[in-house]
Amino acid sequence: MTTELAANELPKQYDHQSAEGRWYTFWKDRGYFHSEPDPKRKPFTIVIPPPNVTGALHLGHALNNTLQDVLIRWRRMQGYNALWMPGTDHAGIATQAVVERRLFEEEKKTRHDLGREALVARIWDWKKEYETRILGQLAQLGCSCDWERTRFTLDLQCARAVRHTFFGLFKANEIYRGKRLVNWDTFLQTAVSDDEVFHETVAGHFWHLRYPIIDPQPGEPQFVSIATTRPETMLGDTAVAVHPDPAKALDKAEADLKQKLADAGEKDKPAVQAQLDELAERRRTLLPHLEKLRDMARAGRKVKLPLVDREIPLVADEWAKPELGSGCVKITPAHDPNDYEVAKRQNLPMVNILNPEGTLNANAGPYQGLKMLPARERVVADLEAQGLLEQVEDREIELAHSDRSKTPIEPYLADQWFVRMTDLAQSAMDAVTDGRVQIVPARYARGYLDWLGEKRDWPVSRQLWWGHRIPIWYAPTASEADLKKAFAGRNDVVWARDPEQDQWLICAEEVDLAEDAVPGHKIRQEVDVLDTWFSSALWPHSTLGWPDQTPELKYYYPTNVLITSRDIITLWVARMVLTGLFNVGDVPFRDVYIHPKILDGFGEGMSKSKGNGVDPLDVIEKFGADSLRFSLAYLTTETQDVRMPVEFECPHCQALVEQTKKNRVQPRIECKKCGQPFATQWASKPADVALKRGAVVSERFELGRNFCNKLWNASRFALMNLEGYTPGAVTDAELAVEDRWILSRLSTVTDQVTQALATYRYGDAARLLYDFAWNEFCSFYVEMVKGRLQDAATRPTAQRVLASTLDALLRLLHPLIPFITEEVWQLLGQAAPERGLGQLEPATESIMIAAWPLADAARQDAEIEARFAHFQEVLKVLREVRSRQNIPPKSPLKFSVKCDPAAVALLKPMEPYFASMAGAEATAWGPQVQPPATSSSDVVSGCEVFVDLADYVDVAAEITRKTKELAKLAGAVAGKEKQLSNANFVERAPAEVIDKERAALAQLRELQASTEAAIKSLEATKE
Ligand SMILES: [Zn+2]
Repeated sequence: MTTELAANELPKQYDHQSAEGRWYTFWKDRGYFHSEPDPKRKPFTIVIPPPNVTGALHLGHALNNTLQDVLIRWRRMQGYNALWMPGTDHAGIATQAVVERRLFEEEKKTRHDLGREALVARIWDWKKEYETRILGQLAQLGCSCDWERTRFTLDLQCARAVRHTFFGLFKANEIYRGKRLVNWDTFLQTAVSDDEVFHETVAGHFWHLRYPIIDPQPGEPQFVSIATTRPETMLGDTAVAVHPDPAKALDKAEADLKQKLADAGEKDKPAVQAQLDELAERRRTLLPHLEKLRDMARAGRKVKLPLVDREIPLVADEWAKPELGSGCVKITPAHDPNDYEVAKRQNLPMVNILNPEGTLNANAGPYQGLKMLPARERVVADLEAQGLLEQVEDREIELAHSDRSKTPIEPYLADQWFVRMTDLAQSAMDAVTDGRVQIVPARYARGYLDWLGEKRDWPVSRQLWWGHRIPIWYAPTASEADLKKAFAGRNDVVWARDPEQDQWLICAEEVDLAEDAVPGHKIRQEVDVLDTWFSSALWPHSTLGWPDQTPELKYYYPTNVLITSRDIITLWVARMVLTGLFNVGDVPFRDVYIHPKILDGFGEGMSKSKGNGVDPLDVIEKFGADSLRFSLAYLTTETQDVRMPVEFECPHCQALVEQTKKNRVQPRIECKKCGQPFATQWASKPADVALKRGAVVSERFELGRNFCNKLWNASRFALMNLEGYTPGAVTDAELAVEDRWILSRLSTVTDQVTQALATYRYGDAARLLYDFAWNEFCSFYVEMVKGRLQDAATRPTAQRVLASTLDALLRLLHPLIPFITEEVWQLLGQAAPERGLGQLEPATESIMIAAWPLADAARQDAEIEARFAHFQEVLKVLREVRSRQNIPPKSPLKFSVKCDPAAVALLKPMEPYFASMAGAEATAWGPQVQPPATSSSDVVSGCEVFVDLADYVDVAAEITRKTKELAKLAGAVAGKEKQLSNANFVERAPAEVIDKERAALAQLRELQASTEAAIKSLEATKE
């Protein structure tokens, strides 16, 4: 493709909307994104963290995928055989929940009305639509994924990998089935993991109940008292616990409080003392009672559980806390994680009172069929009627909620499948501790190791229909001999005994088993599916063809780096490492780069549900994908999360309206500038919906937009000045001083950017390129070279250096801003098809396949870089003075510089440039320079620059400005003096810090003196 534009017809504005689609298609059609194994070349591989098919691209995705694309484009340009493996995740619970919710909203049907097959068919339709959408959005962002290899965690290849993994783990006895207390989501009717649960504080009560003692002896209490926030769960109680040594427990509580009293500040002491007094009182009144109950527990005494008339034992267990409440605690093993542990210790029965959909079952006796809350009301009323309700206290309680359905979680006893985490977790820990996997930044290794170190077995079953169905068949009636006979000669079938249900569990590696696979018996398949993370854990090897030893697996595995967010280090990264080691025998990636999170101006995570999420597609549409990418990379530093203040953009006048925690949840907002109202995402009333919608935006993206504009303008200037360009070598002697400077800077920056990318310092790479492109190439070099471009004698060399520098700059920028660099590359190709200063090279047909620039050490010239840095500073002063004093651009300035001889040597040769670039003529240089009577004085890097203002100055204004400066300086001097007179600081700070502070103070004092002198001399001219 060629862009038929003559240089002088170049549009003033870069049209990102037309360019992006055009170049993306161009790259894709030429097959640049595709990679094939090629043993002659070195691979560089990244697997994408597969986005959920439910979702749309959000800003977190935009950041995550920008960083991956930057890296993959860079490595591709370096000559690696680069593969970026794309795909999406079926996101079991999230996707099913969305489709079920929609089914109910639109058709008032539940999944049970549809049945398993029909529901799964609906979800596949949904998946097709959303997968296309989200992959299209990644393309809009510019992602150079190998789309021919796109995978889905539920496609045939990935499903086969899941089956083989489950089979392998089952065979190795690393998977088992057991009854465990799980977090039950009664809305979705599935277990959810601890990571899918959030806690919310709600107003609740503490109900104090009485359970009658059976046959109390003389001197024994009639009742035992307990307190609970959930009285309805008493229906599932199987014991009441009392501490086995209440006196010792109180001693310990007292010792803890005494320590606390000793550590407490004066303000807190009375409160701690009050607790101690209460404990003493408790010891006097309650301890004998608790010891009596403890003795009764040891004697095997029982209490009567009211309402259901069950006899339950008193037990002695340390879970009871003598320092709290009545000192006794009810034990409900099937509905409370702590009680579950007590029941295991004490060998208590576990009574489940809940149906999966959240109503009470037959174990709840007369309360069967009720939901939790109505059951609570009835239980409390009935206990009160029987005189067994002692009191009700108000209390704030922490209530667990399911992150998916947002409904309260019920702890629930259910049969689940687990992966043992003893050896597998250890293998994944070892991989990080011995450096086979490197986590960057290193601080994130701690969380990974701590979490794996707990070695909690991984619950992998979910009671869903959308997902990988567990490849297990139950054989309740068959004997092992039957199985041996049925599966003789097959190594793709294994079985194990289910110790809890007394039946055989059969696992089939690849092919499903028929109901009659065991002659004479009926076997049935497990209905549960696997946790989504079970399939995404295999992503780096399942996408490459495992369990087959494909050429891809051999060539690309282990991949080079995984780029992800810290939220899923445990859920995902850790599990990829352990399954990679178990299945393939090697780690899945060498590096894990954890990028920052994007927060709003209040430091809160962005999300649609908060109303503070910036939609990256809005930014792409308005500013272009390059602006979005550049801004995101620029903000990506190793140490901090990205803070991004968020605004609404008024759709009528484009004014920005600050987003506050209050207005971000309102359906309509009035623009402060034009006074017209606009709608937000919350609009639901017809009157609000009819309003134009105000987008959620952030000014941070203007940085990228402005940068792209600046680059476009400088490129446009260069292209318009390449008319008549002839390729040719340039000797060192032909180079002007600004050429030597820009080539030196280019070489230095190339080194620095390459280093930054190699160590995932994206923010540094972007900043280096921003400063170089903007401040040095666009603002300086292009301006300095103007004169030579007008002169026929110097024009060819100037053109060659300009074209060659622009060429290298575009390549350095390409990974960050691929579209605009391609657009300019193509135009440059027309104006200067062959480029280079020594060896001439034809431009590649696309910048995507051009080589990454190599730093040329021979061009690096520290002296010339120092000279220009100094020159730029002085020039900046001259320009500031001109603007401050309102001196017309055409009027020449006279200036002198007081500085040491070394600075003179650097700066004096630049006199012609001071003249051409600031219209300024130097009158004197050196240590002896005295300021003219009326002059400005500014200090930069040890040079005092005086501009003679005799003809221009507004003396009064200058005195005012200087006086203000003086006041600031006095403040700074006083601050430093105070710090240095602080004995504490001087004693504690390291010597070099103190020296630095003293030097800074001396410099401030010097500046103070020279400013005072300047004011005096100005005042003298006034008189
Ligand atoms: Zn407005």
